[in-house]
Amino acid sequence: MKIKNRIKHIIKKFRSKGYKRFDGYLRIYLTLECNLCCPYCVNQCHSKKKIKNIALIPGNKWVSAINKIGKDVIFTGGEPTLHPDFFLILSSINPEIKIKVYTNLIWTEDFIKRFINEAPKTIQLYTSYHPSGGKPEPFIDRVLELKKHHFNIMVHSINHKNQIESVQKSWELFKESEIDLIIDEDQTVLFPDACSQDQKKSVLCSKKIILISSDGYRYQCVSKMVRRKDPLENIIQDGLKSDLVVSHCNEYGYCAPCDMLGEVTIKEK
Ligand code: SF4
Ligand code: SF4
Repeated sequence: MKIKNRIKHIIKKFRSKGYKRFDGYLRIYLTLECNLCCPYCVNQCHSKKKIKNIALIPGNKWVSAINKIGKDVIFTGGEPTLHPDFFLILSSINPEIKIKVYTNLIWTEDFIKRFINEAPKTIQLYTSYHPSGGKPEPFIDRVLELKKHHFNIMVHSINHKNQIESVQKSWELFKESEIDLIIDEDQTVLFPDACSQDQKKSVLCSKKIILISSDGYRYQCVSKMVRRKDPLENIIQDGLKSDLVVSHCNEYGYCAPCDMLGEVTIKEK
């Protein structure tokens, strides 16, 4: 199968994979800072309004909140491995809680060694290959090193219009190394109305997803989280309320590309 067709096939698989299901995970953005700056990033790393971490929650507070809530957890960001207590958090969470880490894998050799020695082998790594982080070969070496040490690791990239060619070329290199590079559709293409940043519409928005920012506050969606608008409960102080959040929102059209993932219902008012 030619690369282009193969990529279409992979994207089709993604579309039919049931990306609307609520998975019950706490999605914790340990930090919104990142060591990359991708053109499709929602955290505004390339804008003048760059997000600063207003507060980072110390690892012990995250651990006690997560263990108390008892739900499985995804650590994401930004780049979650930049949190200074990253290893403490991984090693102190109740072993019955499943952990996934979303990372760009821009890791130094020392960091990889530490991860191999200290991280529980049950962690699932969801790594993203972003061409803004450099050529694929060093990334592939890091994946192979982690696989050699029996980590469960998935690799994906994004079919964004600015990087289609480089992603297609990289796909061949990953294949030669026996790594299945999953290519996800650019979500601004999948959900153009929601993310056009053209017109704002008033809607009733219901979302079943648990998004927690780096200061412990929950937000209904990523768009509101990166703008720090309408914070909900703080899971460090208040614990977690209902899985479902419903609001009258007058900013449909300015949703983040990933905001249409999870269980979402939008009704025009
Ligand atoms: S790696 Fe992720 S968080 Fe970092 S700049 Fe790229 S898209 Fe944004
Ligand atoms: S910005 Fe979009 S995703 Fe967020 S609450 Fe409004 S309609 Fe829902």
